[in-house]
Amino acid sequence: MISEKMKGYVANSSVIRAMFEEGKKMAAIYGADHVYDFSLGNPNVPAPGAVKDAIIDIVTNEDPVLVHGYMSNSGFEDVRTKIAEHLNAQYGTSYTFNNLVMIVGAAGGMNVFFKTLLNPGDEVVTFSPYFGEYRAYVSNFDGKLVEVQTDPVTFEPDPKALAAAVTPKTKAVILNSPNNPTGVVYSEECIREIARLLEDKQKEYGTTIFIFSDEPYREIVYGEYKVPWIPNYYRNTVVGYSYSKSLSLPGERIGYLVLPSEIDDAEDMISAANVANRILGFVNAPSLQQRVVAKCLNEKTDVDFYAKNRQMLMDGLREAGYTFVEPQGAFYLWLKSPEEDEKAFVAKCKEKQILIVPGSSFGCAGWTRVAYCVSHETVRNSLPGFREVAASYGLCEM
Ligand code: PLP
Repeated sequence: MISEKMKGYVANSSVIRAMFEEGKKMAAIYGADHVYDFSLGNPNVPAPGAVKDAIIDIVTNEDPVLVHGYMSNSGFEDVRTKIAEHLNAQYGTSYTFNNLVMIVGAAGGMNVFFKTLLNPGDEVVTFSPYFGEYRAYVSNFDGKLVEVQTDPVTFEPDPKALAAAVTPKTKAVILNSPNNPTGVVYSEECIREIARLLEDKQKEYGTTIFIFSDEPYREIVYGEYKVPWIPNYYRNTVVGYSYSKSLSLPGERIGYLVLPSEIDDAEDMISAANVANRILGFVNAPSLQQRVVAKCLNEKTDVDFYAKNRQMLMDGLREAGYTFVEPQGAFYLWLKSPEEDEKAFVAKCKEKQILIVPGSSFGCAGWTRVAYCVSHETVRNSLPGFREVAASYGLCEM
C-alpha cells in the first residue's frame, strides 16, 4: 500500500530514534537511574525562565486573534525585523524582515531550502560524519546526497576532497558547525578555504553553488572557540537556525532561514522559500513560538551545564583509555570504537545499560556518538560501565 519511497524510509528508519525507544524499555526493566541514555540530542537543560515569562506575557497581553492567527507564510514581519536587527548587530550585516523566513525547526527549514532549490538528480554535498536525516531531506526532492569524508584526525572538512566531489550538478554544500556528531567547530581558515574553492568552481562551471549552513548549535561552544558567520565569507550562503538547542525548545519547532539579498536570484529564492513553507504543509512556523523567540533574543541555554558534563565525560573516558575528539561545541562527543566494528562496541556498552549511537548512522563507521545533553548523574554513573567495557578491550585495568 505505502509508496516505494516510503518503504525505503521506513526500512532505514532512524537508528537514533530506535535507540531512544529502546532506552525507554530498558528504563522500565532496570529503573531510569540505571540506564545511561546518550542516544538522542534532546536537551535536558530546561528552557530559560524568560521563555515561560514571554509565553505568559503574550497570551495575557497580546491580541489573541493576532497571536494565534495566520500570517505571511514567512512569518510575522515584526518578529523577522527583530531577529534581522539582532543578527545585524552581531555580524555587521544589513538584513531586513525580507531576508528571513520563520521555519518549523532546522528540519523544516532544510526541507524548505531543498524544495526551493532542487531539481531531480541535483547534487548536495555533505561532510561525513553528518546528521543522518540529511539523507531524507535531500531525497524528499529527488536530490542526490554526495558524502565527502572529513579529515580523519581533525574531522574538519578537507577542501581537496570537496574539490573532487563538486560537479556541474552540485547545487549546495551543507556545513554544520558546531557539528553533530563530532562536536567540532570549523575554523575560520577552513571556511575561507571552502569559500575560495566554491567561488572557483562556480566560475569554472558557470553555476551557482550554495552553502547551506545548518546552525542549531551556534551558541553552544566551549572556551575560546568562535563560530564564523558564513555569509560574511561566501556570498551564496543560506543559513538555517533553530531554537531547538539554543533555547531547549525542540518540541516547539521554531527557527529561521536567512536568505541574504546578495545571493544569486535572491528575489526568486525568497519568494520560492515562502511558497515552499506553505505547500510543504507547514503553512507558517508556529505563531506563538515566533512571538516568544522574538522576546528572548538575548537568552541562551546554560552552556556551563553542558561544559560540566563534557569535562566529566572526557576525564572519565580518557582515564579508561578511550580515544575521542575533544568537543569544541554542541553536546556530542565523538568516541572511537576500540574495535573495527563499532556496532559490536555499541552492543557491549548496551550490556552496561549505556546507549550510544554507531557512527555508521552518520556515514562514518568505526566511531560512535555520545550525546551528553543528560543529567550530571547520568554522566557520572555511566563512567564505571564505560571503564568495564574499556577493560574488556585491554584499554585499562579494572
Ligand atoms: N541539523 C542538525 C545538525 C541537528 O543535529 C538537528 C537536530 O538534532 C537538526 C538539524 C534538526 O533540528 P530541529 O529540531 O530544529 O529541526
